[in-house]
This record gives sequence, structure tokens and C-alpha cells, in this order.
Amino acid sequence: MTAAVIMWFRNDLRLADNVALHAAAATGAPVIPVFILDDAAPGRWRAGGASRWWLHGSLQALAESLASVRSRLILAHGPTREVLPRLAAESGAASVYCSRAYEPWAIELEADLKVSLEKSGIALKRHRGALLFEPEALRTRQGAPFQVYTPFARAAFTTGDLGTLLPPPRTLEAPKRWPTSGKLADWQLTPTKPDWASGLRTTWTPGEKAAQQRLDTFVAQDLAHYRERRDRPDIAGTSRLSPHLHHGEISPRQCWQRARAHAAAHPECANGADVFLKELLWREFSYHLLVQHPSLPEAPCREPFVRFPWKRDAEQLAAWQRGRTGYPIVDAGMRELWTTGWMHNRVRMITGSFLVKHLLQPWQDGEAWFWDTLVDADLANNATSWQWVAGSGVDAAPYFRIFNPIKQAETFDPSGDYVRKWCPELAKLPTPQIHAPWDAPADLLAAAGIELGRTYPHPIVEHKAARARALAAFESLKQAD
Ligand code: FAD
Repeated sequence: MTAAVIMWFRNDLRLADNVALHAAAATGAPVIPVFILDDAAPGRWRAGGASRWWLHGSLQALAESLASVRSRLILAHGPTREVLPRLAAESGAASVYCSRAYEPWAIELEADLKVSLEKSGIALKRHRGALLFEPEALRTRQGAPFQVYTPFARAAFTTGDLGTLLPPPRTLEAPKRWPTSGKLADWQLTPTKPDWASGLRTTWTPGEKAAQQRLDTFVAQDLAHYRERRDRPDIAGTSRLSPHLHHGEISPRQCWQRARAHAAAHPECANGADVFLKELLWREFSYHLLVQHPSLPEAPCREPFVRFPWKRDAEQLAAWQRGRTGYPIVDAGMRELWTTGWMHNRVRMITGSFLVKHLLQPWQDGEAWFWDTLVDADLANNATSWQWVAGSGVDAAPYFRIFNPIKQAETFDPSGDYVRKWCPELAKLPTPQIHAPWDAPADLLAAAGIELGRTYPHPIVEHKAARARALAAFESLKQAD
């Protein structure tokens, strides 16, 4: 019998359009699908609580899909550097197939594994799949990596054909003897005491099938209006594909091709599709930046920001984390995040800006909280977005453009329904007052059952004063430069 090959699943937890799996199956050799839970390699970027919850469901779904093609998912726990060579040796595998990953620690891990496996005569075959374009594929005319999104996106659009989608394998040849597998339940990826995941369970269904259904629904119902609605947190108008994309339950190529094909058949969706593809390119751009700047998750890209005069304050950070700042749009967003593991992009920008500029808390603290609480926590997207919000990224919002949380709320949650949903204690306030309850007349507050400082917090900072303080902090940087 031909020697088996290992399919090492990582953030590519799907059967369809999985280039590495397709290549492994095409060898005709028995395939051993493996997932390794490794908390050592990522160091401080080990998966956070919400990601672990998601991973549990995603692995369950993958195991079921593999069973439907007469295969199995072998689970192993421990450092990949030890576990994978051992599994390969024990099963007599000739090669290991995987999708490339782009986090700095993942790149190092691949390089080390290549050497250690090859020493034992086992080939490591890395394939593309997590991105539309490999990070090194798009270059400026001078041959340099891009630093700015717009020309990057232009280059992506003109690069042309992304190739044909790959079908899932019909069956996978089983090995003569399966390696022993760990038990998913033993990994304790889902919380028990306390069980904080009830909101996640009612909001999400992890797995490849659910990801495909999400894409179907989004394309059929929301793509036509995506351009106008994508900035409105009170309307469920975005795809909510981010956790599925992060875990690789769906490929960006499947999303891209699907949106394009739908727009070709339904011209009324063309504008929406165009904007959606540009969002997928923000994800690509984030990876492009992370590969160029491996310290992106920790250190500001713009050097002067190293000396930024942050005012670290544990109480203020906790008020932000728990949605108790007294700014309804900020609190609504932070509570949406805590309850569902997701937050609308516009509100991520508002809450992020508030933490960094109004409260002068380091962006890395916000990044860490998002890392632990988002089901779509993604090193490249999270780090790039936080640096963008803070103004310290290579292609970032200018620091002096400080979001006014009240104006943002009035523009993007005009009826106040988003705030009413997540801050029910404010629900009875009329729309003109809902985004700034401190300005409401006393009788209106009383009629709505609100007592500021008791039923809902006073604003943690005053907007104008906070804005002036942030601008002064920024000026001090320029002077020090
Ligand atoms: P859609 O609007 O439907 O967009 C489709 C897809 O495009 C998304 O699923 C996502 O993969 C990609 N995308 C959209 N916007 C962006 C963006 N600004 N940057 C990169 N990719 C984008 N996204 C994450 O996936 N993980 C994170 O950890 C993350 N952290 C963020 C932190 C901050 C402070 C901010 C401002 C944004 C962050 N984002 C992150 C980006 C964005 O908010 C989410 O990708 C988006 O809200 C996901 O919702 P959706 O799938 O409905 O998006």
C-alpha cells in the first residue's frame, strides 16, 4: 500500500476549495486529516475565549464533513513542532499537506517544520488558500510592497483571474491503521463555569455548511443594498462572514467569485458587489501589511507613536470593556461584543477611537480585549484596524480626526434602535435624546425611568475636553519629534 499523507488542518477548516486538501487527495494515497491544538507556538497570541468557543463548533463540523467522505479527523494537543513530526513518523507518512498561514509565529513554525520533517525524509507541502493573493504577489510598479490601501486594491482588481473553485473530495482514501485521536470535549474549548457563551450559541453556527448558507443568504438578500447599509449597525446588512473567513470555513475566493457571478446576473447588485469585494481586499491588505511588518500587533508602525503619552487607567479600561462609559453608542457596541462575540465595523471604529482618543488608553489594550472576545479575532485584521484607529498605522486615519461619538451615532444609528437593543435601560428615551442622555431634560429622563449615575452611568469624560486633551497629546508628539 502507498504511504499515507497527512492533511494538517489549520485555519482552513473546510473541504471545498481547499487547495491543500485537494492536492493531498489527488496523490491517491491514504489521507490522514489532523488538527493540532497548539497553545505554545502563538505565544501571547494563543486563541482567545471566543475563538476557542468557535473552534470547538468548527472542529465538530469538520469531523462530520470528513465522516461523510469516509474519513476521520485526528485531534492532537501539544506543540506542533513535536506533535506533527511524531504523528508523521508513527503513521509512516511520506508528506504533510497544509495551507500557508501568515502570522509571524506561523511563518517561523512552517520554516522549522520544513527542516525537521525533511530530515526524516518527509516533505512539507504548503499551499495557498487563506487569501485571494499571496502576500508577495502584489507589488507596486517599483516592485515594492504596498503601504497604502487604494493602489493595493487597484492592483488586485487588475490582476485578473483567480482560478476555478475546487470541489470537495468525493471520498478520502483511509489509511490501514488510524492514529489515536484525542477527544474534543477534553480540550475544554467551551466555557462551563461561568458559561458566558449563551449569546454566542444563539447568534452563530460555526462550520462550513453554515458558512455557505450565510454567503447564500447575504448574496440573495443583502448584496443589492450593501453599499448603502453596510455602515448601519441598526440594520443587519453586512455578511457576518468574518468568523467563517477567519477559521477558513469558507475561502475568500468562494466569496469573491460568488459576489461577482451574482452581480453579473443581477446588475442591480453590481454596486453592492463592488463595495463587498473592496472589503474582502481590506482583509488581503491587512495580511499584506502583517507579513511586511511582523511587529504590527505590538508596536506602532509610525515611530513617534512609541512615545505617545498614554494615560493608562484600569478603571476606565474596565468601564469601556463592560459598556459603562455613559456614551450610549460606545456602550451598545461593547455590550454587543460581549454578548455575541461580534461588533459591527462602524461601531468597532467608534469604540476603538473612543478608547484611544477620548480615554487615552493604549490601542494595544483594546486590541487585546477584542482578541479575547471576538469570534472573528484575527491577528492581521485586528492589528491593522487598531493601528488605523490609533493613527499609528502605515495607512491610518489621521490622528487629529477624532470621531465625535454623538455625531457618529446620530448619522449611523439615526433612529437609536441599535442603542435601544443593547442598552435597554435607555429604550424609553425619545430618539433626539437617545445618543446624549445627559442633555435630556429632567422630566424626560424621569418619564423614561432613567436616573443618570444610577440606572445608566454619567459620561466618563466630557467630549470637548477629551478631544482637546487628545489633540494636545498628539501635538506633544510632533514637538518631541
Ligand atoms: P462585511 O462588511 O460583510 O465584509 C466582508 C468581509 O471583508 C469581512 O468578513 C472581513 O473578512 C473583511 N473585512 C471587512 N471590513 C474589513 C476591515 N476593515 N479590515 C479587514 N477586513 C475587513 N475583522 C476581523 O475579521 N477580525 C478582527 O479581529 C477585526 N478587528 C477589528 C478591530 C477594529 C478596531 C476594527 C475597526 C475593525 C476590525 N475588523 C476585524 C474589521 C471589520 O470590522 C470586520 O471584518 C467586519 O466587521 C466583519 O463583519 P462582516 O463579516 O459582516 O463584514
